[in-house]
Amino acid sequence: MKIGVLALQGDVREHLRALASVGAHGMSVRRPEELEAVDALVIPGGESTTIWKLAVAFDLLEPLRARIKEGLPAFGSCAGMIMLADRIQGGIDGQQTLGGIDMVVRRNAFGRQVDSFEADLDFAGRGPLRAVFIRAPWVESVGADVEVLARAGDRIVAVRQGPLLATSFHPELTGDARVHSYFVEMINQKPVP
Ligand code: GLN
Repeated sequence: MKIGVLALQGDVREHLRALASVGAHGMSVRRPEELEAVDALVIPGGESTTIWKLAVAFDLLEPLRARIKEGLPAFGSCAGMIMLADRIQGGIDGQQTLGGIDMVVRRNAFGRQVDSFEADLDFAGRGPLRAVFIRAPWVESVGADVEVLARAGDRIVAVRQGPLLATSFHPELTGDARVHSYFVEMINQKPVP
């Protein structure tokens, strides 16, 4: 089982480290052939506008969309959550996502860089989890097939739809790999899209 980490921009190394800590085999993905070789994909935190533009430049946008449509398990944190949203608010002109999760995500919803914060969340009923938010999005609304896995206050900050998982926060930055374990369990369950 190979788990790719989309390595166009963002905290790729931190995700590779978190995957290794749960015994998963991670590899960076920057080219279409590398995308073909993986069984699942992590889309890191970073800057969604940059990830989108680089995905276009590296001829990865359509291959990524196609694999997600075929049921590739994927996990997006922060900018990665934005990339997995079917619809976004607060994007720059023409900003596109990969889509896959029937939700509206608002970019920079919690505020700018200075407004970064940490919070303890209940993630998927797995007890309190320290979550780091950096210029984080939140989920404005979800479709009927989307399961809400965590909230910060009354804001939705983690969701799952079939093989797709997304968090507003950065589990790759805390050294607590429970979200990555959850993703690996999802992949092994081969959930129906
Ligand atoms: N605000 C960033 C964006 O729009 C996301 C921030 C992050 O990934 N830490 O892509």
